[in-house]
Amino acid sequence: MEASRREFIKASAVATVAGVACAKAAGREQEDEVTWTKTVCRFCGTGCGVQVAHRGDRLVALRGDMEHPTTKGLVCAKALFLPKIVHSPDRLTTPMVRKGDGFEPISWDSALDLMADKFAEAIRAHGPDSVAYYGSGQALSEESYMANRLFKGGIGTNNVEGNPRLCMASAVGGYVSTFGKDEPMGCYDDIWEARTFFLVGSNTAECHPVIFDQILAAKQMKRNINIIVLDPRRSPVVSAAHVHLNPIPGFDLPVLHSMAHCLIRDGKYDRDFIEKNVQFKTVQDGQPASVSFEDYVKFLDDFEPQRASRLSGVPAEAIEQAAALFAMGPTMSFWTMGLNQRTTGVWANNLMHNLHLITGNICKPGATSFSLTGQPNACGGVRDTGSLCHILPYGRVVANADHREQMEKLWGAKPGTIKPTPGLNTIELFKALGRDEIQALLVLCTNPGQSIPNLHVARDAMGKPRANKPFVCVLDAYPTRTTELADLVLPAAMWSEKSGVFGMSERRYQYQPVMKNAPGGARPDIDILFEFARRLESRGVVPKGYTKFTDVDEVWDEMRHASEGTPYDFMGMTRDRLKVERGLRWPCPTEDSPGTARRFTKGEDPLLDTGHYADHTLQQGEAKFYAAPDNKAIVWLRPAKGPAEPADDEYPWVLSTGRVLEQWHTGTMTMKAEELRRAYPACFMEINPRDAQKLGVRSGDPVRITSRRGEATIAARVVDIPRDGMVFVPWHWADEASLINYVTIDAYDPGSKQPEFKICAVKLAKA
Ligand code: SF4
Repeated sequence: MEASRREFIKASAVATVAGVACAKAAGREQEDEVTWTKTVCRFCGTGCGVQVAHRGDRLVALRGDMEHPTTKGLVCAKALFLPKIVHSPDRLTTPMVRKGDGFEPISWDSALDLMADKFAEAIRAHGPDSVAYYGSGQALSEESYMANRLFKGGIGTNNVEGNPRLCMASAVGGYVSTFGKDEPMGCYDDIWEARTFFLVGSNTAECHPVIFDQILAAKQMKRNINIIVLDPRRSPVVSAAHVHLNPIPGFDLPVLHSMAHCLIRDGKYDRDFIEKNVQFKTVQDGQPASVSFEDYVKFLDDFEPQRASRLSGVPAEAIEQAAALFAMGPTMSFWTMGLNQRTTGVWANNLMHNLHLITGNICKPGATSFSLTGQPNACGGVRDTGSLCHILPYGRVVANADHREQMEKLWGAKPGTIKPTPGLNTIELFKALGRDEIQALLVLCTNPGQSIPNLHVARDAMGKPRANKPFVCVLDAYPTRTTELADLVLPAAMWSEKSGVFGMSERRYQYQPVMKNAPGGARPDIDILFEFARRLESRGVVPKGYTKFTDVDEVWDEMRHASEGTPYDFMGMTRDRLKVERGLRWPCPTEDSPGTARRFTKGEDPLLDTGHYADHTLQQGEAKFYAAPDNKAIVWLRPAKGPAEPADDEYPWVLSTGRVLEQWHTGTMTMKAEELRRAYPACFMEINPRDAQKLGVRSGDPVRITSRRGEATIAARVVDIPRDGMVFVPWHWADEASLINYVTIDAYDPGSKQPEFKICAVKLAKA
């Protein structure tokens, strides 16, 4: 397996650099016979700019877009196979309705009528909260906005969720609780300015490979670059690291506090920045309470390196070394699921921001705390449009009466339609579906039949036959482990077959145009949503005329107006601009604004120059956290709590899940490319040689992995990557034995409601 994977990656790397290898592989095609169109990659939140060659209804090649301002022509192996994936022969092309154990075709009109009838019946009989929407960080921004608008403002339920709850909710919680509003202040340009990189719970080399390529390129250019890695796996990023902090899974909070302790103890903090821009808070009796810098210093005394080492398993010297390198700013931190998918995810995010705030390593070139996004549009589509159960578009929340009123007015909803309390979060939503309290569910562009932790609950809820079983309608482009559970499956258009905007990790909104027709009867999701909404209007459960749009461009225009005057303001991002430019980063309040590289920084953020947040007393380059209370970001004193289910005598191993370079999420798309499948033909369980010996397993031996919730049987891969006592399984494979989410835990962070995919206790046995 190893040799073939290396060969594959090498070949892919050549293709990446050449940028045109796929076109050459497509051979036969002459450049002058095809049209090259700029667009954006369909996979991760790096948001690489790509160009696609197409002729008629065929995509024939893909290359990196050399004119893209931040990704500069780089793409990874997954993107190169997008044309092949789009043309996969198993694309869904006809609406299908359940008949017994199988499906039969149904016309679009009948399918949409059935869908509207089921939702209307549920709303009439049981009220608006008996229906729900479960969307995706892969849906276009306009699609998420439209669904959110329909359910919250039209139907009157906040049961609007999506898979970003599984990947980014803790990052949102971290940004909002520290800075007052979501999303990073820095950008990818900072990679070229940073001196130290801190990679936390992020296998950047495999999950955001273009970002990692750029870090390596920066390291090669400048040579004095430092890389610190905090991760219980020796993932490929460790090969470039100067320090590897290797904690017991889930026990890394003491390490972050200890780094802060060392920085302050050694005088490597920025007193002036702290005085101007930072406040300190703890929680007392369940309420936030202000404390002083001195209180914070005292709190950190509990995390001097020797004690942090005992709590975390990381050597004290490594913590000292990491703190010293962090202080050699400018420092750019990247993190992803290792930090977010935890019951302490928000706190862990707060602690990352703490390090940047106390050292003033923020809002300056090369200095920023930056959460990387796993999906292409979790940021722009779900976080920014407010398409989760507790939020509303562009930084608003359902709990705020002014925010509800603003959105009701803009949407033309009846006053009082938007409920003041959050709807059901993802885990609770599927539980409620299993109890038949949700009677109709719409799933769009995602695969909860594979991706939800403690998966039996979600699969039974969606698919188990029973009297009064809820109605489940799924929109997708491919058959998945979710479509097999649905009552109605609607075939959706794919990337390149519909137009709209993706917003990636650095606040850049990028337009993707139509290049071909969808196959058969597949239709753009937004058209399906329009038709569904109008049918709900005609059935009297949504006010008549509420769905005023005739095309997707009109939805974008309303979105721009929804952002106006907020810290997200992108009024200047007209459709015409986005069609021509390689994306724009918000805030971008006017049509002559070039967008914003660094938020909250005078001279870069246009909102500090005009309008509500303007401040003419600031000097160029000074920071002002205008979205935070009193304009000061918060350093939180958070307890160093461990995971919900650490290893114990009965379940003595820790299971962690994640991704590999060649596959993406539930594999619905990337498994279509044989070249990508070849890298890892089957699922595997990574175990280090010491633990493998204890267990008596060798590479290839099947191992039964059992938790308190379920089991999976997966072949061992003995490799010195996971920490002692830990195994790692990627979650891409859909065959029944490899569904690792039968094993994972659905305990979630009380703040972000994000489940703890990264840590649960298991027992292992040779199968
Ligand atoms: Fe696509 Fe992410 Fe790879 Fe870029 S790094 S090409 S966005 S999968």
